[in-house]
Amino acid sequence: MPLTRLLVLGIDGANPRLLEAGMADGTLPHLAALAAQGTSGPTRGVQGFFIGSTWPSLCTGLTPARHGIHYTAQLRPGSYAFRNVIEEPPTSHGPFWTWSSRAGQRVAVLDVPLSRPDPSLNGVQLVEWGGHDAVFGFRASSTRHERDILARFGPHPLGPSCDADQRNAQEYADFIGTLVRGVHVRSQLTRHLLRQGGWDLFMQVFTETHCAGHQCWHLHDAAHPAHDPAYASTYGDPLRRVYAAVDEAIGEVIADAGDASVLVIAPHGMAHWFGAQFLLHEILDRLGVSQPAPPRSDIAPSAAQRVWRSLPLAARRPLEPLRRRVEARAQSALPRLHADPSRSSCFVVPNGFPVGAIRLNLRGREPQGVLARADADVFCADLERALLDIIDERTDGPAITRVVRTAALYEGESLHDLPDLLVEWSDDVATGSTRVGGGAAAHVRLRSPRIGTIEGSNDYGRTGEHRPDGLFIAAGRGIRRARHHGAAIVDFAPTIARMLGVVAPQTDGVIVSGLDRKIPLA
Ligand SMILES: [Zn+2]
Ligand SMILES: [Zn+2]
Repeated sequence: MPLTRLLVLGIDGANPRLLEAGMADGTLPHLAALAAQGTSGPTRGVQGFFIGSTWPSLCTGLTPARHGIHYTAQLRPGSYAFRNVIEEPPTSHGPFWTWSSRAGQRVAVLDVPLSRPDPSLNGVQLVEWGGHDAVFGFRASSTRHERDILARFGPHPLGPSCDADQRNAQEYADFIGTLVRGVHVRSQLTRHLLRQGGWDLFMQVFTETHCAGHQCWHLHDAAHPAHDPAYASTYGDPLRRVYAAVDEAIGEVIADAGDASVLVIAPHGMAHWFGAQFLLHEILDRLGVSQPAPPRSDIAPSAAQRVWRSLPLAARRPLEPLRRRVEARAQSALPRLHADPSRSSCFVVPNGFPVGAIRLNLRGREPQGVLARADADVFCADLERALLDIIDERTDGPAITRVVRTAALYEGESLHDLPDLLVEWSDDVATGSTRVGGGAAAHVRLRSPRIGTIEGSNDYGRTGEHRPDGLFIAAGRGIRRARHHGAAIVDFAPTIARMLGVVAPQTDGVIVSGLDRKIPLA
């Protein structure tokens, strides 16, 4: 069988400390063995945009100010409408596998989150066979591949969305069992394609860790307000179970990869859900910098939610698959501007929950711009002070730890497609959810002299949320046994190009030290 040169395995949305603990205590033996042979170290994610930009930055080696992607739903420049930016055609720069493919190398790219299908690839691509982020639905490089994969392995057992409302202990156990089954099938599917051989670059991403982290952080973390010790004693730690399944699958895949060099990347982390992003609109309204949009008649989604919650649990359960489908569609639906642009100096744009994002409604840039460019610096300084003054009554400390202008972090041709101000919520305490564990710690009250008191509950049913930190492990011929001081996410695309001996376009990364040798041809 012709050999594989470089095997890249992603572990999506996993907590790096928990991975390290598992490597140290023997529960993740294959990752531990890899780290013992090669070079490993922490990774630094994309500041401010580590929800939507992590994978695009990893794959292109560019910061968000150059690839222009900060979240799936983004403002269409020159308008107040949102668009799904992941579905748009790629730039000529492209992800690292296109550099390899264009050089005539054979590539397999499986389930890389937020990556577009590319029919021109020299090899195989699977998009969203099973993934936390559902943008395209399952696609393969050809309908023949799609049919073959589904005939041999079926769809991923989880389906398109991991979200649910008020799971009980048995439902959590079933959910984890489904993820573990998904990991096993993914291992079989990966090895099926890997064994066809002759791959210069073969990449697979395990996304089950991502779903487990968002849904089950409270069952893992004994300090979480919605923690259920009875679950832990009956079923064990759900995250460790999924991580162990991924470790086992990684061992199987590596065993089938011959003497390929291996790069494992867990590019962004996971810990408790935090902050009060759901109150940011109201904060801007109270500060007088944003005015709410005029009321609209289409209130159907919230009415449907009220009906749903009024149903007894026994009536809800048989309808759950239907609700999940409706919700998955609603999640992929584009948001609306919550502000009246003719009367707002700035407004909130979606950016995930840990870091809120605000766009200035600049005259000359936005169609109904209100804020003069000359006033922007003073405006931002005042808004920053007002946001940092807000007290979270749970801690009696600041609710927001930092407000930073995107232009202070990044430069690039897409800078003005990004939000202008980033609002980093304090993660000192976990915020619960009305949909989990009876709603423990879902309610938040904020106050300041300028906003008075604002309160509300988090209705988003997740207890785990991302962090920008991750880890990597690389092993293979010419890679020394070493502990690396840390690599940035944007460093991996140029590093992979170097390892494959192909020319990378200009990136924002540098070659990871110790991974600078071309892997010899098989
Ligand atoms: Zn996520
Ligand atoms: Zn998920």
